[in-house]
Amino acid sequence: MQPFEIHDVPSVQDASNLLSEYGDNARLYAGGTELLLVMKSGILHYDHLINIKTVPGLNAIQYGEADHELKIGALTTHRQLERSEVVQRWLPLLAQVEREIANVRVRNVGTIGGNMCFAEPHSDPATLFLALGAQFKLASATMERTLSVDEFLVDAYEPALQPDELLTEIRVPLPGASTHGGYQRFQFHERPTVSVAVLLTLDDAHEGIKEVIVTVGCVNSKPFRATEAEALLGGKSVEEAQIASDKAGKAAAEMADPSDDLNGSSAYKKQLVAILVQRAFLQAYTRFD
Ligand SMILES: Cc1cc2nc3c(=O)[nH]c(=O)nc-3n(C[C@H](O)[C@H](O)[C@H](O)COP(=O)(O)OP(=O)(O)OC[C@H]3O[C@@H](n4cnc5c(N)ncnc54)[C@H](O)[C@@H]3O)c2cc1C
Repeated sequence: MQPFEIHDVPSVQDASNLLSEYGDNARLYAGGTELLLVMKSGILHYDHLINIKTVPGLNAIQYGEADHELKIGALTTHRQLERSEVVQRWLPLLAQVEREIANVRVRNVGTIGGNMCFAEPHSDPATLFLALGAQFKLASATMERTLSVDEFLVDAYEPALQPDELLTEIRVPLPGASTHGGYQRFQFHERPTVSVAVLLTLDDAHEGIKEVIVTVGCVNSKPFRATEAEALLGGKSVEEAQIASDKAGKAAAEMADPSDDLNGSSAYKKQLVAILVQRAFLQAYTRFD
């Protein structure tokens, strides 16, 4: 690997200022699991890496009572999320998803912010965050703004970050007591081939579906809401929806646009989407017991 200089910064403002100063010749350096891989392989090179792990307070996980949400600092590692008592108490589905990411070595250093900002399409948390309606807080030396997952993920490897901007926090609204979630993934290689999240809200008697959200990841350039599947399941009795989940899975598969690659053919991945939607729906439903 060609030599580079590491700049330890004490604040978001300093990181942003250095990004402005060095422009395309610099990148933020969090866990480095993606960045150092592409630099080692010679695909990309930057003379300046701005180490943001030295910025205090960016790796906190907090429960925000006022808005009933989780506040996750961008520098929080996958391992922290997997093991956090706050996450296990308030959003166990996120802990479940985090536990399945990569291997313990990657989870120990890889951050949630790095996962989102690299915008690799095969991301587990992106699929779940879309279903949960997470909000991404961005900051530079001069401004702050908040984007939805869909706004933040513009395309594969293309986050909606300005050249001097950092992702600082992810805010996740917590589902109410009458909502449960399911998450299913299928994997051949290091990263998931297909991922599906379902959030299911039932009526008080647990007999009818008040709302259902279905998101599909890894098959398009970014995760998407399978609205056709949602329409087939929403407003039905639980029994009717279980029967309709076969059609819903197929409808979600129709909305997927996967390519043929080492993970399998397009047709095979669509078949996986159809099956995982059914399984995630069932998983969410069984969590009501
Ligand atoms: C072997 C392997 C297996 C994997 N398996 C999975 C898997 O199963 N599921 C899954 O979802 N993911 C998987 N991943 C991806 C993994 O989750 C990411 O590599 C990790 O989270 C990236 O975080 P990082 O801190 O290392 O990012 P870095 O490599 O430090 O940064 C990645 C990019 O994001 C930018 N960046 C980082 N932080 C910020 C920030 N706060 N603001 C703005 N820009 C920022 C950097 O400049 C860089 O361009 C895998 C990765 C590897 C290497």
